[in-house]
Amino acid sequence: MPGSEVPASIRERLPVTTRGLSIVVPLLNEAPGLAALHDRISTFALKLKQRYGLPCEAIYVDDGSTDATLTVARDLPADSLDVQTVSLSRNFGKEAALMAGLDHARLGAVLFMDGDGQHSPDLAEQLVRHWIEGGYDVVYTAKAHRQNESVLRRFAVHNFYSLVNWGARQKIPEDAGDFRLLSPRAAQALRMMPERNRFFKGLTSWIGFRQMRVDYEPEPRAFGTTTFNTRRLLGLSIEGLTSFSVAPLRVASLLGVLIAFFALLFGLSIMWETLTTGKSVPGYPSLVVGMMTLGGVQLIVIGVLGEYIGKILSELKARPIYFVAEQSLRTTSGHVEAA
Ligand code: UDP
Ligand code: MG
Repeated sequence: MPGSEVPASIRERLPVTTRGLSIVVPLLNEAPGLAALHDRISTFALKLKQRYGLPCEAIYVDDGSTDATLTVARDLPADSLDVQTVSLSRNFGKEAALMAGLDHARLGAVLFMDGDGQHSPDLAEQLVRHWIEGGYDVVYTAKAHRQNESVLRRFAVHNFYSLVNWGARQKIPEDAGDFRLLSPRAAQALRMMPERNRFFKGLTSWIGFRQMRVDYEPEPRAFGTTTFNTRRLLGLSIEGLTSFSVAPLRVASLLGVLIAFFALLFGLSIMWETLTTGKSVPGYPSLVVGMMTLGGVQLIVIGVLGEYIGKILSELKARPIYFVAEQSLRTTSGHVEAA
């Protein structure tokens, strides 16, 4: 009997707006592993139906794949959960694909998981339990450790978070991933964030509500290799940093104050030397060093300012975050819609 395992007291606590769980899966060239992933998601959905009486839907967002991802997605069986496919008009990036999935979610709560098999549906069960039984609104996963990553990368990641969170009221948790579950009200809050430059980790933490961290070990990718190389990660970091914090601007101001302070000390020491010894200080080397230091610092600061101005420009243009080329919905009852 559906829902028989869970005491009625818990089922009564399900928010009235909860009609089910939408599972959003962004896909870029994930054709080889997609059918297997859908099998695992279907089993997971069946379990949720039995345990909580919770209906599910999977939303496969094809982010401009060049392989057969969309064809495979269109044919996935809607046995134990409804299946939506949303195909974007080109590759807009993972953050945009997640947003597209969020916009198409029809069932209240939203679970984001990668399409490469690294996010296990078994762990997703745990996330759902924290939401339904624990009453948490944002259940996010974080890498338990980074031992298999290089020292340089760990150093960079740590410094990135220190900078983003510097003076921030709501800190972005370090190591948090995109594998996360949002309650209906958290999902709604996320939809209301107007910005074009989306940094999901930051946004889901910024909205507040009751947040819960779950440590996990990502599974190895089922097929292929990661699409996030160092250059893209760096881009995402700059994106996150400039979207979420004015720390770089503050660092620039601080640097200015610091340099001015040392210049003053240096100036005073020159004056002192001239006054006490009567000799004028030979100036050429100090002049060149001073000029070059200042020149470098100024260029860096202009670059930082430029990042923010670029951000203002893209927000001002207010372009849509993505375009949908085609979409379809197949329900467990056999209903089919396509556009
Ligand atoms: N992805 C996407 N659009 C992109 C890049 C990636 O939809 O432009 C998807 C990709 O198919 C996968 C997920 O985002 O389902 C995570 O990508 P990946 O495994 O390459 O990143 P990593 O796990 O290394 O962070
Ligand atoms: Mg991956």
